[in-house]
Amino acid sequence: MTESTFDDIFDDLIDPNEERQNFLSIFEALLPEASTLLVSEAGVLLAGARPLALAPSERERLVRETGATDGFVAGEAENGAHCQAVYLANLPAVLIFSCAAVRKDDLRSGSTSASLLRNTIDLALARQEREMLVADHEQAVRQISILQQQHGKLIEDNYRQYQLNQDREKEYARKLESEIAMQTAELREANVRLEEISRLKSDFLANMSHELRTPMNAIIGFSELLSEAPLSEEHLDYARTISQAAASLLTLINDILDLAKIEAGKLELEHLPFDLTEVVGNVAAMFKIPAREKGVEVACRIDSRIPRRIMGDGNRLRQILINLTGNAMKFTEHGEIDILIDHEQEASGRIVSRFSVRDSGIGIPADRVEAIFEKFTQADGSTTRKYGGTGLGLAICLQLVELMGGNLAVTSEVGKGSTFYFVIPLEEAPAENLPLREQQEAGLGKTGCGGRILLVEDNVVNQRLASILVTRQGYEVEVASDGAEALEHLRHQTFALVLMDVQMPNMDGMEATRRIRAIEADPALRHDYVGLRARQQPLAIVGLTAHARKEDEAACFQAGMNGFLTKPIVKAKLAVILSEMMPS
Ligand code: ADP
Repeated sequence: MTESTFDDIFDDLIDPNEERQNFLSIFEALLPEASTLLVSEAGVLLAGARPLALAPSERERLVRETGATDGFVAGEAENGAHCQAVYLANLPAVLIFSCAAVRKDDLRSGSTSASLLRNTIDLALARQEREMLVADHEQAVRQISILQQQHGKLIEDNYRQYQLNQDREKEYARKLESEIAMQTAELREANVRLEEISRLKSDFLANMSHELRTPMNAIIGFSELLSEAPLSEEHLDYARTISQAAASLLTLINDILDLAKIEAGKLELEHLPFDLTEVVGNVAAMFKIPAREKGVEVACRIDSRIPRRIMGDGNRLRQILINLTGNAMKFTEHGEIDILIDHEQEASGRIVSRFSVRDSGIGIPADRVEAIFEKFTQADGSTTRKYGGTGLGLAICLQLVELMGGNLAVTSEVGKGSTFYFVIPLEEAPAENLPLREQQEAGLGKTGCGGRILLVEDNVVNQRLASILVTRQGYEVEVASDGAEALEHLRHQTFALVLMDVQMPNMDGMEATRRIRAIEADPALRHDYVGLRARQQPLAIVGLTAHARKEDEAACFQAGMNGFLTKPIVKAKLAVILSEMMPS
């Protein structure tokens, strides 16, 4: 079906000739004997069923004259018959007709014939108008139905589109959901894999740490002992070289392990009370002798507003300061090195402090200032040759300072010196809060059981080394190769202290410690152990482990140990712990 447009409908409605033709037909029907002619304003001729023949000149006259009057104008048809013309404003057009019944004179205005004819014309006009209205109405009805059709179609289209959109949305939502579910599953899987990798990495780190430190323990210990032996100058030099090389290798191992731990996100800072003055004082003291040999002064100053006892990780703070002061020493030939701790401001119970290590050394070129904080990067290529080092120290310090909530930076001038500094918030430690280790040591110090030490260690080289170190401190040593053997020794002998290796075959140090504590707690069992039954206080047990992680230390204390020493055993640290824990 071809659809009508509004324009078509409108054209139908406004065709004026159709109206005129229509009028003519009605008029002819009312006056059947008349012959007619209708002239539109534009001069178009419309003839009725019985057309009137009229000379053009006469027609033009009639048209002209009807324009000037309301009434009829008389004329003459070609056949000589009378005709009448009248202007019809409604159409608009001039009606010319000839009717034998109407004489020329009958059309005077007001005459009966004129009135009759006028009425006939009005009637024809009225009918025509009525027909037009009916047509209009029909057109309107058609138009409405078309509109309704179109409206219905629009509604249908809209509904179809709506359904389509709904389906599409549902499909999209379904796809999105399954995509999200898939990605979530993938992420979960990846997360599990990452956790596994991270666990493996962390285990690997722990094992590496153990595997590397155990032989280092022997190398450092024995080369130290060798340096103290009566040797020729040449051999002494060899021994010292081994000792120094081993010490720097140990530093490198520690640095690499630290960095790996930081990068794996495994490095956690402690939050324990420590003595800031002691930490800073120790660092300055460490460098006093080598500085004096070089002719450099080392000084430290702490702002009096900063409290002595601080909460945090004292060991890591010490590590940062040792690194920065070590660098300052390395790159300074004369002048002085200052370790300064300044009070910057106080906010919500925290003291914001600035730690600086200032030297009068070689300085750092401006274009290298950023690079030196990167791993394995030094200020210039000749640094390693001339001063040694690996370029790891500052990278580690930077990360540690960030973990402490600060930023490490430097100001420097070539030839004048450098100042490395960082600003961190410090929290004062509550007065009574002693760290766990100090508490345990305080309560379990002197045992009053003489100078015998039980060394529990599976590695023969380490047994020898530790025995020599302990003997040199003036104590007697008994050796057990694992935890079970240690328990056997305690069954028959008394000891003032146990140095307990953690990782051993058969029965490890943790298990042995737990058993010793269990025996101590049970009077019936204790009775069978000479080494435990007469004691007023628990036996002092110091863990020895190559694992230097915080969690290893915590695990030792949790198993019931009272002290902790990392391997390689540092002679000075062993001396300190023995002097604190052994009876004097
Ligand atoms: P390393 O000292 O082992 O090379 P660091 O990361 O500690 O590694 O230092 C990186 C580099 O930064 C050093 O090699 C040196 O070039 C430069 N540097 C560090 N501290 C100083 C300093 N106080 N004076 C001059 N240069 C320094």
